[in-house]
Amino acid sequence: MATAKAAPQPIPRIAPREDLNPHRIAQIQFDLAAEYLKLDPGLRQILRSPKRVLEVSVPTKMDNGQVKVFTGYRVQHNVARGPAKGGIRYHPNVTLDEVKALATWMTWKTAAVNIPFGGGKGGVICDAKRMSKGELERMTRRYASEILPLIGPEQDIPAPDVYTDSQTMAWIMDTYSMTKGYSSLGVVTGKPVSIGGSEGRKEATARGCMVVTEEACKLKKMSLRGASVAIQGFGNAGSLVARLFAEKKSRIVAISDSRGGVFNSCGIDPLKAMRYKERSGTVVGMPGTSRISNDDLLTMKCDILVPAALENVITLNNADQIKAKVVAEAANGPTTPHADEVLARKGITLLPDILANAGGVTASYFEWVQDLQSLFWPLSEVNAKLESVMRRAFQEAYETMRKHRTHMRTGAYILAVGRVADATLVRGLFP
Ligand code: GLU
Repeated sequence: MATAKAAPQPIPRIAPREDLNPHRIAQIQFDLAAEYLKLDPGLRQILRSPKRVLEVSVPTKMDNGQVKVFTGYRVQHNVARGPAKGGIRYHPNVTLDEVKALATWMTWKTAAVNIPFGGGKGGVICDAKRMSKGELERMTRRYASEILPLIGPEQDIPAPDVYTDSQTMAWIMDTYSMTKGYSSLGVVTGKPVSIGGSEGRKEATARGCMVVTEEACKLKKMSLRGASVAIQGFGNAGSLVARLFAEKKSRIVAISDSRGGVFNSCGIDPLKAMRYKERSGTVVGMPGTSRISNDDLLTMKCDILVPAALENVITLNNADQIKAKVVAEAANGPTTPHADEVLARKGITLLPDILANAGGVTASYFEWVQDLQSLFWPLSEVNAKLESVMRRAFQEAYETMRKHRTHMRTGAYILAVGRVADATLVRGLFP
């Protein structure tokens, strides 16, 4: 497909030095689209910053009897097109600027796939991997009760993100429901199926990523069968991306997690890797593989590279060495704006996060609709609807990219920011 070949226009107003602050990166990405759309300065100011920011203290009784106070956030970036929507992240490196960026990206993501949501995100600074289940439950319930004024099925609907899962969502749903005095299914998505979760939600991020990669490969006349795939990050998104690509007969040549990576040029069996990681806590040391670092994985020779972990892994430091033909961003914010330019120059097709990982929130939307209607769909229906949303979003982003002679990230941004700008303008300014 014609990314670099279409002579991307020079990116305006991008500072020479690379800035790794995620919120400033989100603003640079927005500014580029705003420039193409010629948005007026007042509207730019509205869309550049979050609508609401809440910081909370989360006192939690730890297993040793002592109280530990965690810091948590919930940010609503924009609700012009519907309730705020976005996950909750538990990680020691969570910062307010990271949560702001993630909330901003959710606004563009829901608009890119055209589902009736705004963007929000939450986070708690904690090392979830080192906490017991009891500690996690107590922290989650207290965090949920602290952000209660913001959340609700019509206001703001959390979901899982890094180091949170369906169990975390069940605790939040229960805490919210007990406070209200009735069971509210639609307050969170990514729940267990037994309490109003949707079939297919767990693997939806991966499925969406696979569908848009397939579309991009069709345009590049590349077959997924036999294609070599390297996946950085082996959590919910990464491990299920591996499984889906393996089902398409692609070769998973490398996978990694926070402790390092493993490599086998003949292909790694994702199911074996998942079982190994469940037992050992890491993919490192998996029999039949050799060790590789996360950095080497990103720059290794492969057809498709899937960053599926955290922000800022493809930067000016390594962009020039990326050898993949397609980069599909299952993670949020893995590539910096400077690295975007380098990849475009090299003719690498980048499938941006707001498109490539939007399958998760799309299935979350289906879950919310099913909860509100108390009518649940079979897996085949969820997957068929998900695929159709993803293929349409890919086509629309691709056409926008062609029209503006830019690359895929900015194409998807122009599409998404344009939708949010339209909604804001037609609603008008209150009061
Ligand atoms: N945390 C996921 C994301 O970044 C899912 C959000 C959602 O389903 O609301 O897209």
